[in-house]
Amino acid sequence: MRNRTSIIAGNWKMNLALGEAIELVKGIHFGLSFPGEVEVIVAPTFLCLQQVAEQLKDSYIVVAAQNLHFEDQGVFTGECSGKFIKEAGADYVIIGHSERRQYFFETDEIINKKIKAAFRNRLFPIVCIGETLDEREAGKVEVVIERQVKESFSGLSSPEISALIIAYEPVWAIGTGKTASPQQVEEVHQLIRSLLSSKFGEQAATYTRILYGGSVKPENSRELLSLPNVDGALVGGASLNVSDFIEIIKNAK
Ligand code: PGA
Repeated sequence: MRNRTSIIAGNWKMNLALGEAIELVKGIHFGLSFPGEVEVIVAPTFLCLQQVAEQLKDSYIVVAAQNLHFEDQGVFTGECSGKFIKEAGADYVIIGHSERRQYFFETDEIINKKIKAAFRNRLFPIVCIGETLDEREAGKVEVVIERQVKESFSGLSSPEISALIIAYEPVWAIGTGKTASPQQVEEVHQLIRSLLSSKFGEQAATYTRILYGGSVKPENSRELLSLPNVDGALVGGASLNVSDFIEIIKNAK
């Protein structure tokens, strides 16, 4: 019996301006009267956070930021801190998405500092890890995942490990329409859970939610979400469409 509540999180990336973001959450809220045993999260851009959170304040849908700076305040032009994100009404923050690693050169060390900043500001981190196609083809999946887990989670306590959420997102499956096979997904999720167990204790690892991300759609979500070590999904493209997103949430029940 699994004791972890599923999460379906929509990562809107840099796709929606305020008006579109509000329309989308109204549609999700209206279309899904009660999500049941699923936590639903949406991640708008910084600029829309406060108004989306306001729009959702009487709903069961909660809000995540897509990034944060690791300091709480200071001379960091163009950045936004966990402190401000929390104040804007978000409860979660996505950290270390592969697009941030690739285009903004985020390392596991920076990601580690960001996770600590999130906890300091009472935000639950959703930490993305995953291998590139080259790494998979070179047989390096285990090495890469182990390095990401070890370095990103360095210095965290066991209760923090239970509270954070991991999104396994193979980089080659993001926005490409290529989904990892259920067997590939379950294998890596099991690996992540056993790494957590050996580093932070079995009890902590039992509670950590591990989401899958990478071309999740209504059609493939039922099978992926039924895997024993998959506790939900981080959804990009399909989260921008009301009916697709709702169908994925329903398939998580
Ligand atoms: P995708 O994106 O669902 O469009 O592949 C997932 C993500 O980047 O989190």
